[in-house]
Amino acid sequence: MKQSTSNKKVAVVGAGLVGSLEACYLAKRGYDVHLYEYRDDIRNMEHVPGRSINLAMSIRGRTGLKAVGVEEKIIREHGIPMYARMIHNRDGSTKAIPYNKDGKVGVRGSKRFVPPTPFLPSQGPYIDLVPNPKNNQRHLRAVRSAIYSVGRRFVNDWVLLTRAEEFPMSPFHFHHKLLTADLERGKMTFLDTMSQDEVTVDADLMIGCDGAYSNMRKQMMKRPMFNYRQQYIPHGYMELCIPPGSDGNFQMPPNYLHIWPRGQYMMIALPNQDKSWTVTLFMPFGIFNSLDTPEVLLDFFKTNYPDAITLIGREKLIHDFFANKALPMISVKCSPYHVGSTSLLMGDAAHAMVPFYGQGMNCGMEDCVFLKEIMDKYESDERRCCPRTPSTGTQTRRRSWTSPCTTTSRLVGWCVSIVVSVMRDLVNS
Ligand code: FAD
Repeated sequence: MKQSTSNKKVAVVGAGLVGSLEACYLAKRGYDVHLYEYRDDIRNMEHVPGRSINLAMSIRGRTGLKAVGVEEKIIREHGIPMYARMIHNRDGSTKAIPYNKDGKVGVRGSKRFVPPTPFLPSQGPYIDLVPNPKNNQRHLRAVRSAIYSVGRRFVNDWVLLTRAEEFPMSPFHFHHKLLTADLERGKMTFLDTMSQDEVTVDADLMIGCDGAYSNMRKQMMKRPMFNYRQQYIPHGYMELCIPPGSDGNFQMPPNYLHIWPRGQYMMIALPNQDKSWTVTLFMPFGIFNSLDTPEVLLDFFKTNYPDAITLIGREKLIHDFFANKALPMISVKCSPYHVGSTSLLMGDAAHAMVPFYGQGMNCGMEDCVFLKEIMDKYESDERRCCPRTPSTGTQTRRRSWTSPCTTTSRLVGWCVSIVVSVMRDLVNS
């Protein structure tokens, strides 16, 4: 029997990329949604510390956005398509590796259609709209594989939070830091960081979208039969910037994800709307630490990324490198993702991964799609979505419920091994 959702309260903890999207999904389904966020409303903040500026969004993220009607705005109006990787060699030469298997553009259903790799029919059509030269209309079934560079802030603040406000939903609770949660009873305690008061909240369903260092997950870790693993890799990352050229335009061809693969380390650059590039340097901390003077830094760049010195600018490179510090990268795995039918983890809280996979946000948004599919299947009956086992009080692991991460890790592992082998070949050649 279809369950009524309107009298059910859901507390979503964390108004990041996944929490704000999930809030939209649940509000659309008719739940009484309350979104709790530790920070201030980031729409009021000038600078959001410790966050990447742009992200690579794939079809998985786009599918998540589509269901709440924001894909068009984010991708068509503000996304910059990247149809290929542009590999920068040490000698300054470049080579494009398209995301399509052979770089062709095809039309679905015709003989010219070339399925992109990986092509997962179960995830819906892998389509990308490109103008039809015959009639200049956009609604084509043309296929050309691309991932999109999107601004994190634009997606999170200016689209998802604003979109969430358009659904009938309680006002957002900013400055609310989750302290503890009684996972089975649906009770949570927050610290109101403005008044310093503790606030107790009841909910029928609590969803932890509170990121890689999730407090909701910490509550689950106190329980028996909860598995958890975290790993810091020896590499750190630092964001630098290639500014627009003197003519105000992109200094490099914009429709590529630029990569400087160098074996143990690499640099990547994604285009921004303002014609600048966000450059991310991934290296072992030992190398970051060894670059301790401007001369050593410049020597390192001359050897490894000579073309980047001109693009970033010598002085800017020195200034930005020493004004920043390299940040760590963590990956997190845990299981199960839920306790009873009352609490659930999504996004980085459930499965944080290193950023150079370019998949964390995409997987998190896909979580929202999977949860929707499960709720559709079980007609919004949370107890059937995650049935309880008599012995542990947690749910049996329904295949469909656990599939996002299992599929994700397999897919990511597969993609990464392909990228790594291509890069290894390039580096060796
Ligand atoms: P978050 O975005 O971390 O949001 C968590 C929210 O919870 C935050 O707003 C936080 O303030 C709030 N919160 C935390 N604790 C509490 C608490 N106790 N109480 C209340 N609120 C709390 N992914 C991609 O798909 N493509 C990319 O190209 C990509 N590039 C990346 C580059 C970098 C440098 C990094 C670091 C990550 C990148 N990622 C990328 C990964 C992506 O950023 C994350 O996977 C994504 O942000 C996860 O979203 P989330 O909502 O689960 O968590």
